[in-house]
Amino acid sequence: MRINKLSFEVKDGIAVLMLDNPPVNSLGHELREALMAGLERAKGDPGIEAMVLIGSGAGFSGGADIREFGTPKAVAYPNLRTVIIEVEASAKPVIAAVGGVCMGGGLELALACHYRVGIPGARIALPEVKLGLLPGAGGTQRLPRLLGVEAALNIIVSGATVPSEKLRDTPLFDAFGDGDLLEHALIFARRVIAEGLGLRQVRDLRLDMPNAEAYVQFARNMIKAAAGPYPAPLACVEAVAAAVEKPFDAGLKRERELFTTLMLSPESAALRHVFQAERAASHILDVPDDTPVRPIAKVGVIGAGTMGGGITMSLINAGLPVVLLETKQDALDRGLANIRRNYQGALRKGTLNEASLAQRLALITPTLDFALLRDVDLIVEAVFESMEVKRQVFETLDGVVRQGAILASNTSALNLNDIANFTRRPQDVIGLHFFSPANVMRLLEVVRGAKTAKDVLATAMRLSKTMGKIAVVSGVCDGFIGNRMLARYGAAAHDLIMAGALPQQVDAALQEFGMAMGPFRVGDLAGLDIGWALRKRRAAEIPGRDFSNVADDLCEAGRFGQKTGAGWYRYEPGSRHPIPDPKVTAIIEQYRRQKGITPRTVGSQEIVERCIYALINEGARIIEDGIAQRSSDIDLVYLNGYGFPAYRGGPMFFADQTGLHDIARALQSIAAQPGSDVGVWTPAPLLARLAQQGQTFSGFKGTA
Ligand code: NAD
Repeated sequence: MRINKLSFEVKDGIAVLMLDNPPVNSLGHELREALMAGLERAKGDPGIEAMVLIGSGAGFSGGADIREFGTPKAVAYPNLRTVIIEVEASAKPVIAAVGGVCMGGGLELALACHYRVGIPGARIALPEVKLGLLPGAGGTQRLPRLLGVEAALNIIVSGATVPSEKLRDTPLFDAFGDGDLLEHALIFARRVIAEGLGLRQVRDLRLDMPNAEAYVQFARNMIKAAAGPYPAPLACVEAVAAAVEKPFDAGLKRERELFTTLMLSPESAALRHVFQAERAASHILDVPDDTPVRPIAKVGVIGAGTMGGGITMSLINAGLPVVLLETKQDALDRGLANIRRNYQGALRKGTLNEASLAQRLALITPTLDFALLRDVDLIVEAVFESMEVKRQVFETLDGVVRQGAILASNTSALNLNDIANFTRRPQDVIGLHFFSPANVMRLLEVVRGAKTAKDVLATAMRLSKTMGKIAVVSGVCDGFIGNRMLARYGAAAHDLIMAGALPQQVDAALQEFGMAMGPFRVGDLAGLDIGWALRKRRAAEIPGRDFSNVADDLCEAGRFGQKTGAGWYRYEPGSRHPIPDPKVTAIIEQYRRQKGITPRTVGSQEIVERCIYALINEGARIIEDGIAQRSSDIDLVYLNGYGFPAYRGGPMFFADQTGLHDIARALQSIAAQPGSDVGVWTPAPLLARLAQQGQTFSGFKGTA
């Protein structure tokens, strides 16, 4: 028999309630209703003596349905706590059959059952902390009663997944073994009936731990120091402390209070936004999810420099064979040596062993011969950033690589449509803009050319998943999404030092806001000479326009950043620690004098507003221009590629939280100041319109 998302069967006096809500049996409203109905039916049937709760497919249950968060369904009767009370209060024993995924609300449901039967391979977790929450359906009260305070707290505060094998000998499981889970659970249920084991409620277990309160205090101190701006980890400790200090029901009440506070916190709202943004990013508005993808079994990488090396590592880490092509043997040897060296860290840490490293490296076929690319399914080009070099490479590829293969470029700043037109197959050309170091950074901008075929896009999105990357689709424009915004951010930071701030002051204000690193520290890390060369090129291309920057004077003085031991800061030999340098102050002052600028005092709030609002305004233009599909994609780019703090959810989410009206007003006032670039600072039309309508970027569903 079926009750909506639950199948209900009776086997030999035992009701088997099978959760059936693919893919992970999330406990959405319909399943909760079905569970209540199933429990009711079992209760009312005198032929039934016990119940087994089990999941179909992927396992027991992955927990709450996150799509319901913030919707009426999340709180609609029956909520998870109601179901849990019903299970625990059942007069007939309920046995949870724990296999596959058993997480969050799913684990909390299992904890409320009278017994748990497990098999190896199940994955146990309370991951709520990762969304800035805590387990809010009794998990913080029941788990410590079964596992002890320390083990339970570790699971709750880390949100980490624990394999069931590690917990097999703990009181979490009343029976554990290999084989068919349902069979095990039925055998155990018969034993419960035959031996009259009765109802064992976890809530009645005593939490015995000598010095529990001292331990909780120790945990509080530790976690407070580690949690930084996130309130959830400490709230987890408080909830477990309540399990130690209070009777069960009072502990539950405390857990609820803490949960509700977290649910309303901006940090959790941001983390939930990011979670959903990651899921949304893989959907391309005009490319159906079921678009057939092209098989990718072998890849060619052109250029074994900084990027080509990192890209090769990402590919071989995902098990894909790579033909790595260079122009000269010594460049190839150097590239391979760098790849090997980049793996040393993983070897030292023990996350990789020699045997699997050898396996990975064996996937690389180094070559100087284009003919070896004949049978690859995808090419990633990572040669010098020069249109002429790219033209030669793409024309050659066009003649060598089989029809139907995908030709991708890793260009950061060249026009992808022009590159595509070097070939006779522009529909097969796409941008795969990796970030440096490419084997570490999760972000990938998938650049859609004017003629890129839909299945090529779909294939690139699939490949990014295979490599464990977060892919965001970007249209073609100068800098794509990330670097186009970064240019505005950098210009805003430069304006601030022109106005009177010092690099260390700008960096400190933005780091205080939460950026992983301030813009001047980033400049020193990346090297100031790259921008210097670019500005020289631009100045030659467009005579009469002022491209000058204080960084040019730093470069003239040989200060290229960390690599020369001095840039916006100075560095002790071998150290990456930035030390403010009076010489830089003098260069800045001199530069201001040349430009006729009288410095003024610049405060932290102004620094943050100008830099972050510049990002937001450009983000709005990027949506308007159709370069990004949605504001949450822009957030992902900034979070994963540019060190924007996750607890603020990305620049566009931060804008929504701040209120677009306030942001538009602040931008207008900057635009009105003497010397401001009005074109840059005037609120983007989309921002102005949404602000006026009292709307948000998240709520904006496009102009169509
Ligand atoms: P790099 O100078 O470190 O490496 C380029 C490599 O390409 C060199 O090893 C060179 O020998 C090789 N090469 C040049 N012409 C070739 C040809 N015709 N055939 C085969 N190999 C050739 O440069 P990089 O930093 O790795 O950048 C490569 C590309 O990636 C550029 O388009 C750049 O804009 C882009 N990119 C760089 C970064 C970054 O942070 N470095 C980030 C994103 C994208």
